[in-house]
Amino acid sequence: MLDRLLRDWDGERLILRRDHPTGAWVVIAIHSTRLGPATGGTRMKSYPTVDAALADALRLSEGMTLKFATPGLPFGGAKAVITVGSELDPGDRPGLLRRYGTMVGELGGLFLTGPDVGTTPDDMDVIAATAGEYVFCRTVEAGGAGDPGPYTALGVFTGIQTVCERLFGTGAVAGRRVVVQGAGDVGGPLIEHLHEAGAEVAFSEIDDTRIARYRDGLGVALVPPEEAITTRCDVFAPCALGGVLDADTIPGLRCRAVAGSANNQLGEPADAQRLRARNILYAPDFVVNVGGAMAMPGIESLGWTEEQARKELVEYVDRTLRRVFAEAEAGGVSTDQAARSMAAERLKAAGAAGDRLRDALGARSAW
Ligand code: NAD
Repeated sequence: MLDRLLRDWDGERLILRRDHPTGAWVVIAIHSTRLGPATGGTRMKSYPTVDAALADALRLSEGMTLKFATPGLPFGGAKAVITVGSELDPGDRPGLLRRYGTMVGELGGLFLTGPDVGTTPDDMDVIAATAGEYVFCRTVEAGGAGDPGPYTALGVFTGIQTVCERLFGTGAVAGRRVVVQGAGDVGGPLIEHLHEAGAEVAFSEIDDTRIARYRDGLGVALVPPEEAITTRCDVFAPCALGGVLDADTIPGLRCRAVAGSANNQLGEPADAQRLRARNILYAPDFVVNVGGAMAMPGIESLGWTEEQARKELVEYVDRTLRRVFAEAEAGGVSTDQAARSMAAERLKAAGAAGDRLRDALGARSAW
């Protein structure tokens, strides 16, 4: 399995370590340092097997390379996954995170991380205790920029507006029906943006507290989880986990477009063609969900204000999506293919310079 997984992965380096005190596995997949330090969140969850965790990390790491390359940001792609069973004692969590932080610190800036599914800005504070400066999104109290979710949500909201303009000739979402799958750190603020802008929002969720917040608190319609994909709407916004669009689910979609935050929404590349064949406009996940990944390094490393970060990401998502849609149409290819080509061009252009710099600095040096 390991052999097959790695043969299909064109990344640079894989680090796999067992955390003996807890039994967790830690995977750090460094996909590309061609444009800058390999950057990606730390996902902490339970996986059925170590292979499944590895496969997730490898795939997500490539998505991060695309995410940074498309806007031309000076970061490469990576992802870390920590497998934890439900048996992890909460008291063991800080120790696990500190030992993981040591691993990150030992990489000396080759890998920069932040929160992802299952980790929070509070966790970043703990990781930073041993990883030092290589951690984004620590809490505001600890000097970080906090939760990236609202920035990501703003980018997805922008993407939905751009999609509406493409489909209906106006970016106004008032009266448009949008189904948001997952009302978490991104889906929640996205629901709020849509609700405020007058969209007819429905959402699906499995967490009772979050259901109560948006159904009872905001009066948003709730759709059972198994019906989210098949509910008739203008835009379906997957904001839970990846892999929701595949040969089985695409025939059941009853939307005009898909635009959401979940990473790796397509089960396989052919799914982009399946969407195209059904005339469903797909806003590539790594283009619309870049908000947090742009804003956090922007604020913490490039000195952007929060307002500037919001402005930069809104302009970027809108501009890039327009270009993706135009190039897909002109080239007769899927929107996913068009966006990947744009990222590939950036990587190619940076190739020689990036490779030389990497060789000169050595793999362990900070960028
Ligand atoms: P989150 O864990 O805060 O939220 C996910 C929500 O989905 C949770 O409330 C969960 O209960 C719900 N959920 C899980 N399974 C579900 C199901 N079957 N049906 C309906 N709801 C379900 O995560 P998040 O930070 O909001 O991220 C959501 C997605 O967006 C993830 O795929 C993540 O990788 C991606 N993403 C997040 C960010 C970010 O800034 N947080 C950035 C880029 C991409």
